[in-house]
Amino acid sequence: MYEVETEFARTLVAEACTLTRRVQNDVVANADSLTKGDRSPVTLADLTVQAVIGQRLADRFPADAFLAEEDSSSLDAPGMADKVGSLARSAIDDLDNARIAAALDRGNHPGGAEGRHWVLDPVDGTKGFLRGQQYAIALALVDEGRVVVGALGCPNLPSPGARGNGDGWIFYAARDAGAWATPCGGGATVAASVDSIADSARAVFCESVEAAHAAHSVQAGIARRLGITAEPYRIDSQCKYAVLARGEASIYLRLPRDESYREKVWDHAAGAIVIEEAGGRVSDLDGNLLDFSRGRRLATGRGIIATNGVLHETVLEACRAELSS
Ligand code: AMP
Ligand code: MG
Repeated sequence: MYEVETEFARTLVAEACTLTRRVQNDVVANADSLTKGDRSPVTLADLTVQAVIGQRLADRFPADAFLAEEDSSSLDAPGMADKVGSLARSAIDDLDNARIAAALDRGNHPGGAEGRHWVLDPVDGTKGFLRGQQYAIALALVDEGRVVVGALGCPNLPSPGARGNGDGWIFYAARDAGAWATPCGGGATVAASVDSIADSARAVFCESVEAAHAAHSVQAGIARRLGITAEPYRIDSQCKYAVLARGEASIYLRLPRDESYREKVWDHAAGAIVIEEAGGRVSDLDGNLLDFSRGRRLATGRGIIATNGVLHETVLEACRAELSS
């Protein structure tokens, strides 16, 4: 099922990777904007991707709703509407500024358990994007509250086994059909599959680069309980799900720094289905499946744990032990 949607999601994400790569190349070439903390490049990339994907989805699946991170209010920054307009028109040549605003604002859907809606994070990992490192374009289809398709564009992800920047990969998955990875530059598509490490001491775990997004010290304590000696694999964005889905890490820990923070659905929908279809498991700290039917955010503030499946119960147990100590 969902073959047409899966293939369409993959092509949308591939096109988006091309657009964001152009913007990020400018960021890297102009190191000045990094030191000034100028966020306008990521806004340009975010808005352009959301407008182009929003418009393409409206054309192809007009009955489907759209839930995305951004809205047209960010076009108000000086010069932004024109920059987004010219980049977006390199993809869809008749997309005028009014249609761009409308395509962006289609993304205001509240989510929930009824019907179908597409979920988009146009640039996930904005900190990584601005550092010239990893980020992702994350698109998923939610049908009756359940994620059924996911596509994760990782434009800088290196070849399997390597770290640092590479030529990019797209991961995609459809419910009960499997998960695959394909190089952005063309080349053979391969099945994505988690590793089968059963001894937690041999596992690598990944976590956010940004200490504000996850409790690194708690995660270090959990890793110690699991006997993990390898350094954490820190990588921005849903690329964490991608590296797990191809067996380069066995565990992804995301324990909240602040339990009142509610994770956003677009930060996990595509990544979660890729992991599940690659043979792994994703849950909150209580072992419950993530619930994408509650709106624009997940209802739980209890962290997110993704594993290769084999290690899941062991990791949950280590989390409970660490948190009650
Ligand atoms: P990462 O690249 O894994 O560090 O995660 C990036 C995502 O973290 C962004 O897309 C934000 O939506 C999300 N985020 C922002 N603030 C927080 C927070 N306090 N806790 C967890 N995630 C956050
Ligand atoms: Mg995000």
